[in-house]
Amino acid sequence: MKQILPNSTVGVLGSGQLGRMFAIAARRMGYRVHTFSPESDTPTGQVSDYEINAKYDDLDAVREFAKGVSAVTFEFENVPFATVEAVAEIVPVRPRGEVLHITQNRLREKTFLSNNGFPVTPYKHITTLQDFENIAFPSVLKTAGFGYDGKGQAKLKVADDIEKAFANLGGQDAVLESFVDFAKEVSVVGARDVHGNFAHYGVIENEHANHILDVSFAPAIVSSKIYNEAVEITRAVLEKLDVVGVLCVEFFVTKDDNLLVNELAPRPHNSGHLTFDACITSQFEQQLRAVCGLPLGSTEFYKPCAMANLLGDIWQNGEPNWQNALQFPNVKLHLYGKAEPRIGRKMGHLTCLAETVEDARETVRKAKASLIEKL
Ligand code: AMP
Repeated sequence: MKQILPNSTVGVLGSGQLGRMFAIAARRMGYRVHTFSPESDTPTGQVSDYEINAKYDDLDAVREFAKGVSAVTFEFENVPFATVEAVAEIVPVRPRGEVLHITQNRLREKTFLSNNGFPVTPYKHITTLQDFENIAFPSVLKTAGFGYDGKGQAKLKVADDIEKAFANLGGQDAVLESFVDFAKEVSVVGARDVHGNFAHYGVIENEHANHILDVSFAPAIVSSKIYNEAVEITRAVLEKLDVVGVLCVEFFVTKDDNLLVNELAPRPHNSGHLTFDACITSQFEQQLRAVCGLPLGSTEFYKPCAMANLLGDIWQNGEPNWQNALQFPNVKLHLYGKAEPRIGRKMGHLTCLAETVEDARETVRKAKASLIEKL
């Protein structure tokens, strides 16, 4: 396989913060980056060499984009499968389109996981009201496609919740899951190169607020049993899917210390943002290396680390007080270049490296809280 070396051009489908950090990693290593995005002046486009603005279903524009690059990756999983297929006729797409096809639909993803013996939350395919007969409460109803950060989800507490939640689906396919009263949520970010070599960042612990990731820290505080199983499941998922690139497995840790896979993300993940500051090779550089057919880099951590997401919510009373957070010498600020700070929108994050994970977590929380305190 031909390696794609620095000075080559790599393409990104999608234009959010994941593409932005990928582009920063790529440009640092001397690559050029082209972004394909329906919007202009995007987080990825701002740091790319070239931003192509066209709709994903404009396959002529997609082919033009593909002709200008040596390989293509994607930064979010809702890029239409047909777009990726059109690119793949011209240049390699990594991970391959089939990985995207499976993971962009909850039903296909859960079917893949359970058919291959991976532990998943009990689930049921929902197409009609009759499918709700004899279900247990509480349950979570999720649309099969186009969902993230709790979007397209409804918790069903009692039978009376069913009709409204079903109507809200508007005819979309859905999956009903048992509600898991978990002890904690964790994730493993894995990377796999063209030769099948696997690398991972250990287990990262995730705390959510309103279904959106709030704080992640590594290493996670879990038993060695959970650590080993989570890493092994991740390795096996990347191998089964024949991933070349980065893929994150999100898990629930149950109260009896077992794992259930919640979701797969076939790209760098929000919980892995801390690798940008904390590791020898970040998840974004790892994606680049895999996509370009290069060897993976070391995933070693310099120190324990924590990350706090900055959502548009903290702009409610005006611009956050950046100076406050910057007074913490171990805290790093990342902003994604988004103009409009909407509620729930991921605008940036803070990371903190410290001697202990507890200290990193406490400090990053303090730094985040300080953003909305008066100077
Ligand atoms: P998802 O978009 O499926 O990753 O869901 C977002 C978040 O909602 C998860 O990280 C959990 O905090 C929560 N959640 C989703 N599904 C369940 C479930 N079956 N049981 C309990 N909590 C859930």
